[in-house]
Amino acid sequence: MKLHIKNTFSKELPADKVIENTRRQVHDACFSYVTPKKTAKPKLLHVSDDMLEEIGLTKSDSESDTFLHVVTGNEIYKNTHPYAMCYGGHQFGNWAGQLGDGRAINLFEIQYNNKQWALQLKGAGETPYSRTADGLAVLRSSIREHLCSEAMFHLGVPTTRSLSLSLTGDQVLRDVMYNGNAAHEKGAVVSRIAPSFIRFGNFEILAARKNIDTLQTLTDYTITHFYPEIKSEGKQKYLDFLTHVRNNTIEMIVHWQRVGFVHGVMNTDNMSILGLTIDYGPYGWLEGFDYEWTPNTTDAQHKRYRFGNQPYIGMWNLYKLANALYDLIGDAEPLQGILDKYEAIYLNKYIKMMHQKLGIQTPTEASKKMISELERVLQLTETDYTIFFRKLSYVSKNDTPAILFEKVKDAFYTIEKLQGDVLNTWTAWFTSYLFILNSEPIDDSSRMQAMNLVNPKYVLRNYMAQLAIEEANNENYTRISELYELLKKPYDEQVENERWFAKRPEWARNKIGCSMLSCSS
Ligand code: AMP
Ligand code: MG
Repeated sequence: MKLHIKNTFSKELPADKVIENTRRQVHDACFSYVTPKKTAKPKLLHVSDDMLEEIGLTKSDSESDTFLHVVTGNEIYKNTHPYAMCYGGHQFGNWAGQLGDGRAINLFEIQYNNKQWALQLKGAGETPYSRTADGLAVLRSSIREHLCSEAMFHLGVPTTRSLSLSLTGDQVLRDVMYNGNAAHEKGAVVSRIAPSFIRFGNFEILAARKNIDTLQTLTDYTITHFYPEIKSEGKQKYLDFLTHVRNNTIEMIVHWQRVGFVHGVMNTDNMSILGLTIDYGPYGWLEGFDYEWTPNTTDAQHKRYRFGNQPYIGMWNLYKLANALYDLIGDAEPLQGILDKYEAIYLNKYIKMMHQKLGIQTPTEASKKMISELERVLQLTETDYTIFFRKLSYVSKNDTPAILFEKVKDAFYTIEKLQGDVLNTWTAWFTSYLFILNSEPIDDSSRMQAMNLVNPKYVLRNYMAQLAIEEANNENYTRISELYELLKKPYDEQVENERWFAKRPEWARNKIGCSMLSCSS
């Protein structure tokens, strides 16, 4: 197995001078060298063939002992030096100080096909940033990260990727609902890949410690490697940097709202500086459309990270990044100017995206009103977000509201509510939608095609991942590959997979792991 190694992060940024792997505050450094933990009996469960190709490896490479041992941390690839990154973060709105890669270990970077990739293991043991935890990950959360990051990529959502999912052969103690019922679970490691895993928190920790030289070095590094289009110099360069990060963050969140993805823990340490979806923890997929919904039980009280609040949190997090960059600029006003534009840019993109979901080519005042009305109407009947938009593509300009209603009615969880005022409200919405469609030149079949490119048919519903997890706990791993293959083509009809194009089964409504997830992973 030959990897095309080219390290930049560990080469160009300052390393922690202490080399013992003890838990501590790490000063004047961007990372600490660490060695992954050897595991009892590593076993590869699944490899993303797609990602394998991206980094220049073949299927037979992935079947080698070296591959298994490298992606589980049991072997260090020749001439490479694994490390954990130092970062801080705001968690649930409060500054949390140093966090860092507590259970992620970066192995090396790869340069292939003119693309730069960092490979990182999640769950490979303790680092100086592990605080009070064990540095390990369990099978259930690793399956969720592996499947979801690949599914998001194929949905066209900016994301970190996953190369492999493996069992470690070790047992890990976890208290899933934090209620004193700790139990042993199977340990696992995901090897994940992104151009870079740098987060907002990498900048915040340096600013908080007034480590301005290193902050500048890190920012210059990030711009040189990941924002090469920024050509300005001096203060303007850092302002342009914030502008780019703002735009990428908005882009990512608009995609989340499009596909119904709820991240669950949008702390600033979980915000990628490249605008990639990162750290798949207690995330969930919207089933019944509901702005108030969050899958994360740790956030159940305030619902800070609920579906409808994600755009606002994106901005809140950018404020923290802007604060961190302040010392490179020394003037708050232009930073404020960049953040002031967030809302308008977001809304503009969001409205465009919703028009696409509805198959409308030319936004008008009437269509905007119809969209904001839809957001209200969808909640009246607990409407499945994915099914509703997919089925809506069958609309014809000649339909009556009653016919259109028949076409989408599979999307309603509480169809019994569809009477009286609720029925009238829906009928009024269908009427205004049909009226708008009739003012557009596009024909039914072209509109359907366009809608099916933005409205996925298959997403990783919370219960689907849970099925794969329960089976994997019983040593049956076929569902993992089945779902991986299904979610590679989320916009295709895939008639043979129609059973996955269905509402969440009732047993999954309030089940732990399906709609209720904690941060315990
Ligand atoms: P998260 O909320 O999962 O993004 O994690 C927040 C912080 O806790 C990060 O610094 C993680 O590296 C760290 N962390 C989470 N789980 C563990 C674990 N099992 N062992 C060590 N550190 C962890
Ligand atoms: Mg994290």
